[in-house]
Amino acid sequence: MGKHESKVLVVFGTRPEAIKLFPVVAALRRTPGLEVRTCVTAQHRGLLDQVLGIAGLTPDIDLDLMEPGQSLDRLTARLLTGLGDVMDAERPDRVIVQGDTATAMVGALAAYYRKVPVSHVEAGLRSGDIYQPWPEEVNRRIVAPIADQHFAPTETAAEALRRENIDPAMIHVTGNTVIDALHATRARLADDPSLAAGLDPIAERFAGKRIILVTTHRRENFGGGMEAIASALGRIADRPDTAILFPVHPNPNVVSVMDAMLGDRPNIARIDPLDYPHFVRALAMCEIALTDSGGVQEEAPALGKPVLVMRETTERPEGVAAGTAKLIGTDSERIVEETSRLLDDGDAYSAMARAHNPFGDGHSSERIAAIVSAGFGSGD
Ligand code: UDP
Repeated sequence: MGKHESKVLVVFGTRPEAIKLFPVVAALRRTPGLEVRTCVTAQHRGLLDQVLGIAGLTPDIDLDLMEPGQSLDRLTARLLTGLGDVMDAERPDRVIVQGDTATAMVGALAAYYRKVPVSHVEAGLRSGDIYQPWPEEVNRRIVAPIADQHFAPTETAAEALRRENIDPAMIHVTGNTVIDALHATRARLADDPSLAAGLDPIAERFAGKRIILVTTHRRENFGGGMEAIASALGRIADRPDTAILFPVHPNPNVVSVMDAMLGDRPNIARIDPLDYPHFVRALAMCEIALTDSGGVQEEAPALGKPVLVMRETTERPEGVAAGTAKLIGTDSERIVEETSRLLDDGDAYSAMARAHNPFGDGHSSERIAAIVSAGFGSGD
C-alpha cells in the first residue's frame, strides 16, 4: 500500500510535558490515518523518566541531551542540531510541541526551518512579563508565530493569542490536557491503589494531621526566595496539628537550601520527587497546595484543593479569577499568614476549596487529535 498515513512527530523533554502529552499521544494513536512518532530530548532526564515508565510512553527516539549544569545557550544549540537531525531523518508531516520549555521552542523552530507545520499544545499562556517565568514566557511566545494549530486551554489563552494577531481560525479552545492526565491517573488509582502505595508510611505517620503539599522549583525563586520559603515552612511545621509533605525538586538550588534550613523535623516529610500516581495521591491527601509550579495550579483546583501560589505573577490567571488560587509571592511572613488563615478560618478555606475546573473537562486530548487529523483532510 502507498503512504496513506500522515506522520506526526511529538517532541518533549521534561516532566510536565510528558504528563501533559501522554494522553495526547494515546489519543493520536487511536486516530486512524496517523502514524505517531515520539522524540524525547531528555532536557531533564530523571524527572522525565519517572513519567515515561508510568505512562507507558516509550519514546521512539531519545536524544538524551541532559548535561550537568547546562547553560541555556548550550542546551538551545544542542536541541536545535539534535532535533533538526531527527526531523531530517523522520520527515514528519507535522510536529507537535507542548508548553513553554526550550524543547518546545526549539522543536517549533527546527520544524519551521524545514517548513513543517507545528501544533502547539497549551498555547496562549502569558504572564505579560518576559522575565516571569524566565525563560518560559518567551519560549512560548516564540512558538506562536510559527504554529498553525494553537490548542489554547482556556478562552483567556485564546484571547491572548488573538491579541497577538494570530489568525482566529488557527486557535482552538480545547481545555488543558493535564486534566485528562489527572482523570486517567485517578481512574487507574481507583482500580489499583497499590500504584501509589509508596505513600502509605507517610499517610500513617501524618494520620490526623492537616497536610500541606509543597513543591517549589522556579528559577525566579532561587536564592532569597528559596530561603524565605524554607523559613516559612519551618514556622508552619511548628504547629502540632499540621504536617508538610514536600517532594523536593532535585535542582541543587532547591535541595541545598532545604537541607540546610529544614534539617530533620517530625512534621516535615522531605521526600524524593514522586511519580505521577503518587503525586496525584499526595494532592488528594492534602488540605492545601503551596507551590510555585504551573501544573499544580491547574491540578489542585480540579481536586477542590486551595492553591497558594508562591509567585508574583501567573500565566494561569483562571484559578485566581475563580477564587481557588491566590498569588502570595515569597515573603516568608506572608506565606505563614496566608497558610495559617486557611488552616484557622473555615470560611476562608471553604471559599477557596470548591472543586472547579477552569482548565478543562478531561477530553482535551480527543479534541486535539480530531483537529490534527482534520488538518490532514482525513478527519470527519
Ligand atoms: N509532579 C509530579 N511529582 C512531583 C511534583 C510534581 O509528578 O513530585 C507533577 C505535577 O503533578 C504536575 C507537574 O509535575 O503535573 C508539574 O511539574 P513542575 O512543577 O516540575 O513544572 P511546571 O508545571 O511548573 O512547568
